[in-house]
Amino acid sequence: MSSPSSSPMTMPESSAPSLPVVSALFARARDRLVAVACGAYVIYAAFCSVLTGSPLSTAQLAGVGVCGVVFVLALAGKLRSFRMRVAAQLVVTLLSFYGAQHELASDNFSDQITHLLWVMVAFPSYVLLLGSRLGLVIGLLVIALMALLLLGAGPLTPDQTLAWMTGLFVVLTLLLTQYLIAGFIERYLSIHEQTSGELQAARLDALTGVAGRAALESELQRALDTARRTNSPLSVILADIDHFKQVNDVHGHGAGDDVLRAFAKRLRRNVGGAGMVGRWGGEEFMAVLPGVARDDALALAERLRQAVSDTEIAGLPVTASFGVAALRPDDDLNQLFSRADERLYDAKNGGRNTVR
Ligand code: GH3
Ligand code: MG
Ligand code: MG
Repeated sequence: MSSPSSSPMTMPESSAPSLPVVSALFARARDRLVAVACGAYVIYAAFCSVLTGSPLSTAQLAGVGVCGVVFVLALAGKLRSFRMRVAAQLVVTLLSFYGAQHELASDNFSDQITHLLWVMVAFPSYVLLLGSRLGLVIGLLVIALMALLLLGAGPLTPDQTLAWMTGLFVVLTLLLTQYLIAGFIERYLSIHEQTSGELQAARLDALTGVAGRAALESELQRALDTARRTNSPLSVILADIDHFKQVNDVHGHGAGDDVLRAFAKRLRRNVGGAGMVGRWGGEEFMAVLPGVARDDALALAERLRQAVSDTEIAGLPVTASFGVAALRPDDDLNQLFSRADERLYDAKNGGRNTVR
């Protein structure tokens, strides 16, 4: 049991946005980009048809249909799985080749070059959908195939060669830009993932695997801020194993460690989703219970006490004492913690294996 004065609370630093948040932002941005590209193609095809007064070709109609479907899927967030993205990309690519061949049969060169540009620009981006490396490889293959198709269409005039090279340059530049941006984002995410994994591990208690002291303190601060903002209750339970020193003395330090591990596990299982369990230090643990009022916290502490004393822990009969405190309007963290610690002290003086 720690005295309030010997356990000053260090306030947590604010942390960077977590990986899921960054990944979700990236996925949403990608969905929107795909939707914009597909939507643009549909509008473009309709515009061309109106402008030229001619109905859309079969290939164009199929393109409009597929882009429309991908547009809806992207907006509905259904392109999140890699398999769905590969499928969408495959269909659009096959269709664009079909379209390209169709267009190349026409003797209007500007039709051909316009179509090829659209094929690369308007459909969902390879790199963003497939990942930077696979996307770059496939994108380069598609460009090479397009170039072959175009070259196979017949001899080109110097003007046509120039137009063709310009088109190729635009498409290549777009592909490489996408590659650079997507590659950067991927690397950022993987570094972020690695460091947040390391940070996470550093915040867990090495022996018991429950939250460590730093994680508990930041959770407590976060819970306190939320409780103040939403005017909702907040309780904490401090638990301290009774006569733990004897466990070490009689059964050895290894057995003591086993008891600590099993004790932490039992607390965590019994607290469940009601809050966070962590090791405050030594054989003392804390449960932070956001949204839980004092009566419910007392009832939970009583359940914890029974869960500990009813069945042996790591093969030994173990009991623990519990101190419960609920947030008061003028409390800061130290006051809340001190009250829980005083109650724990009362529980110890009241004979142990009790809740106060
Ligand atoms: P009380 O009922 O008053 O709480 O008595 P206690 O014996 O549990 O309390 P005390 O503070 O006298 O002893 C706590 C013991 O916990 C002393 C220390 O050696 C032991 N301890 C602290 N950390 C660890 C640990 O990581 N592993 C083991 N095996 N023992 C630990
Ligand atoms: Mg203690
Ligand atoms: Mg103890």
